[in-house]
Amino acid sequence: MPQEVLHARGIGDLSRPAAAIVARAETRGDEVDDVRSLLLAHADAQAGSADAARSVATTVALACLGDNHLWQDLQFASRAELSALMRHWFPALVAKNVADMKWKKFLYKQLCEREQIFICKAPTCAVCADYRVCFGPEE
Ligand code: SF4
Repeated sequence: MPQEVLHARGIGDLSRPAAAIVARAETRGDEVDDVRSLLLAHADAQAGSADAARSVATTVALACLGDNHLWQDLQFASRAELSALMRHWFPALVAKNVADMKWKKFLYKQLCEREQIFICKAPTCAVCADYRVCFGPEE
């Protein structure tokens, strides 16, 4: 992940999160904690310092509270930039996302599966009516 992308797009800068996200974080702190823990459990120690990894994980977890695609709420220019960030900091998670699921969907699905909560309506994604909600273009 080019560090210039990381910083130019404001990731890691928690001083200016969207007001709606700040408000939601006050009541959904457990959710932020869970997503951050998931990310950090898959962090690559070679990617950067532990503090930097925690900052990135916190930012991504907070951005998950937004209403838009995750790459949009992270103020990236495209989903490709978010995927690059994920590859750099959390390659073990990228390896699990073999079907290239939308990142926010993928992260929350990981949490549900970890808790053995299966909220999906179909036995497999391939036959699910919500397939396009979880996969496909994010534009
Ligand atoms: S496509 Fe359907 S089955 Fe697959 S993760 Fe999404 S909701 Fe669940």
